[in-house]
Amino acid sequence: MKKDTYIIKGRVLHFIDEPDTTPENAYEYYKTGALVVEDGKIAFCGEASDAVSRYPTYNIVDRSNKLIIPGLIDTHMHYPQTEMIGAYGEQLLEWLETYTFPTERKFSDKAYAKDVSDRFIAECLRNGTTTAMVFGTIHPESVDAFFEVSDSYNMRNICGKVLMDRNAPDYLLDTDLDTAKKQTEDLIHRWHNKGRQLYAVTPRFTPTCTPEMMTVAKELMDTAPDLYMHSHLSENKGECAWVAELEPEATDYLDAYDRYGLVGPRSVFAHGIHLSEREYKRLAETGAAIAHSPTSNLFLGSGLWNKKACQEHGVRAGLASDVGAGTSFSQLQTLNEAYKIQQLQGEKLSAFQSFYFATLGSAKSIYLDDKIGNFEEGKEADFIILDNSGTELMDYRQSHCKTLEEELFVLGTIGDDRSIKETYVMGVCVYDKDQGFRRPPVELKAVS
Ligand SMILES: [Zn+2]
Repeated sequence: MKKDTYIIKGRVLHFIDEPDTTPENAYEYYKTGALVVEDGKIAFCGEASDAVSRYPTYNIVDRSNKLIIPGLIDTHMHYPQTEMIGAYGEQLLEWLETYTFPTERKFSDKAYAKDVSDRFIAECLRNGTTTAMVFGTIHPESVDAFFEVSDSYNMRNICGKVLMDRNAPDYLLDTDLDTAKKQTEDLIHRWHNKGRQLYAVTPRFTPTCTPEMMTVAKELMDTAPDLYMHSHLSENKGECAWVAELEPEATDYLDAYDRYGLVGPRSVFAHGIHLSEREYKRLAETGAAIAHSPTSNLFLGSGLWNKKACQEHGVRAGLASDVGAGTSFSQLQTLNEAYKIQQLQGEKLSAFQSFYFATLGSAKSIYLDDKIGNFEEGKEADFIILDNSGTELMDYRQSHCKTLEEELFVLGTIGDDRSIKETYVMGVCVYDKDQGFRRPPVELKAVS
């Protein structure tokens, strides 16, 4: 029996649609359920008795009574900022200058970048995050280091070399556009669609990218199919005013990307807080996405994301930690703050909406819902086993929950890494709370 072919029993929950209008039709929940994993992919999701009768020869991994859900997806993170998470006292532009840029300087050293990549990916897996969309630094070494570690776990991650050529310290600028372009082309060639790795062309944000650099970014987007464009948009009011000065001909902040051809499907913009009606409309019609980063937005005092406006306009949105401005790797803690941001605006984020947001919703926002995000047959078997008794308080509180909805809401409020029992990537258990991390053997890594 191959190690990535088996039946796993438990309380299986996944989403098949967005739960805003008819939540009861948006998910499937099997109290005595099972997943059948075959060669790292989902072959069946349903009642355990059906799984066992259909696949009688398969080994059974028994996690009965534990909740099994798809791996959590984080649509915006900065791995080089792992070491500076929780840095005191500044808002965006000063925070970048004081803490971020000096930290990112260190990533010209490949060994350093590898060490941080190891720690970063370990934190993702410990928190049940199986896919992340990640900034490197301007150094190609930073991206090689990240993908090497990601590939060693066979994770589906998206990363890219940061492009910037103005308004940052000299040591962090692409001084020559041709070099930046060539370095990016080489990285795309090395990593895009290698195994499960995907590449994002990554102009940091308008303040650090000249029109010439934005043009290079567009040229790079045209070099391979299905590349991502990963950047920031309308995070902080001071930043928005600065963009208006830097790009006087642009209609608004979004147009400062759009006029260079950088807004479309697989364009992912972190934040999107201070947007105009026109920008919501344009995001929706182009298929671009917002990566909502609640812990970061509160930590840097950036503002409150308008979920309702995004929904009304049909803008794609994913959930994001934005580590290291975000203060937790845990998407459960990110949901906790996402809920409060809606509360402050008189809006709600239900338990079902939350867990949809962290799984299938985020997969849709980054156009990966044909591969991950739920347990439909043929999808890649990235999933997590939750532990409701991570602490005495969690155990005690959960013992008072009467419904699945209540259980989920409590998980997304007081849950964190202690709520993650096991994390599976392509059907292989790569993290176990009691036994630590295990990298899959090479023969299990084939992806069609
Ligand atoms: Zn960011």
